[in-house]
Amino acid sequence: MQKITIAIDGFSSTGKSTVAKQLAKALGYVYVDSGAMYRAVTLYSMQNDYINDDHFHIQKLIDDLKNIKISFKFNDELGFAEVYLNGKNVEKDIRTLEVSNFVSPVAETSEVRKMLVKQQQQMGKDKGVVMDGRDIGTIVFPDAELKIFMNASAETRAKRRYHELLDRGEDVQYDDVLHNVVLRDGIDSNREDSPLRKAKDAIEFDNSDLTVEEQFNTLYGLAKRAIVEHSK
Ligand code: C5P
Repeated sequence: MQKITIAIDGFSSTGKSTVAKQLAKALGYVYVDSGAMYRAVTLYSMQNDYINDDHFHIQKLIDDLKNIKISFKFNDELGFAEVYLNGKNVEKDIRTLEVSNFVSPVAETSEVRKMLVKQQQQMGKDKGVVMDGRDIGTIVFPDAELKIFMNASAETRAKRRYHELLDRGEDVQYDDVLHNVVLRDGIDSNREDSPLRKAKDAIEFDNSDLTVEEQFNTLYGLAKRAIVEHSK
């Protein structure tokens, strides 16, 4: 069977990474969390005070981009690849609400996108990859054999993210999480460079009323069909 590229895009907290990880495992493909890369650049910007509540020194970040090295290393115990920033595992540090609050302006920066899209295309050049994000089916892999566009109501998504953050021990309020989800979606959808859009040939998938298992079964079926189709 030929390997294909699976692009999963959608609004924040729609469960993209959960199903992308499951699909990659079931198919023996590589999973790439492109959002983790934007989050890692954001963490770097925060650490270097390029961004905080008062300012965003875009040019300073752009001038420093060459010093940002992002990589993934597979963790056998977790069963997926964790993200590293300049050699340091930042998997936990990038998932905080603070990083979520700054990531959209960083991700709006064209120079950042150019650098990360290039790396993402390199990671997927041999196919056999499941990548999730906002522009995977439109910009990173416009020729992906299977494109999914995930959605769910804002409340459902905020609830999922809220419980995820609580489970990680973060002290957060539901209203702040909802606010962040809605705000991020707005910025991601309306930015000039690579706005969040459903690719014309993407399959729209609303999982508001589905269990994780039901969602996986449906998407696994679609993936199998796409693989057979492209192996003919
Ligand atoms: O997927 P996740 O919620 O971790 O992504 C964090 C942020 O990174 C998104 O809100 C978006 O601003 C940005 N992003 C993007 N393009 C991608 C993946 C993520 O702009 N392909």
